[in-house]
Amino acid sequence: MRARARPGIAKAQGPKSPVATPSTSNPEPTLRVTEIFRSIQGESTRAGFPCAFIRLTGCSLRCVWCDTAYAFSGGEEMPVSVAAERVLALGTELVEVTGGEPLEQEAVYPLIERLLERGKTVLLETGGHVPLDRLDPRVVKIVDVKAPGSGMTAANLPENLERLGPRDEIKFVLADRRDFEWALEFVRERELDGRHHVTFSPVWESLSAADLAEWICDSGRPIRLGVQLHKLLWGDVPGR
Ligand code: SF4
Repeated sequence: MRARARPGIAKAQGPKSPVATPSTSNPEPTLRVTEIFRSIQGESTRAGFPCAFIRLTGCSLRCVWCDTAYAFSGGEEMPVSVAAERVLALGTELVEVTGGEPLEQEAVYPLIERLLERGKTVLLETGGHVPLDRLDPRVVKIVDVKAPGSGMTAANLPENLERLGPRDEIKFVLADRRDFEWALEFVRERELDGRHHVTFSPVWESLSAADLAEWICDSGRPIRLGVQLHKLLWGDVPGR
């Protein structure tokens, strides 16, 4: 997933792990976390709003243009309660669970429940290759469909798109004109843009956002152009 921490952006300061474990027979689940930070939501229909991000470590895909490869490994192991408190301490109404691939960690589900219980609007950004059937319906899902330029189209799970509600979002990250044509046909065939928010977003420094904007306008479809607002503000700065 593509949101990143920026220099100068508030990092989470919270209780240090480990915290007290409830019982040895039923230990609290843990997460492996790459970073927790506050920034501007850069890519979804909520772009521009302050948002707290928690980036979980690990992803089984290898998209050609992935800009968060630093989240493939490493990270810090922490109990779900600690991770949730660090996110909540950042004080935003909006929180995003991202990665890596957040749905590849079992403990993401209790994390999401904690955030929802505290009244947060929870966005979940996923590569789209893990079934969405266990997610709480209150979660706003932002689901990638991988175009050919990613090298990962075989990982797409079309049945995931049948599980989306009207608030959920489908995102195509496009590297070139061939990706655009592929994505447009994918959307047309399934009439996705009549039921969901559909965003086409250019691969940074690979496809011109202005070109993609023209192509979307010419298509006549209600598709949103996605730009990575955080990169426009701060550039493509590597993770911390
Ligand atoms: S799904 Fe693709 S873009 Fe997202 S973290 Fe995995 S490799 Fe990177």
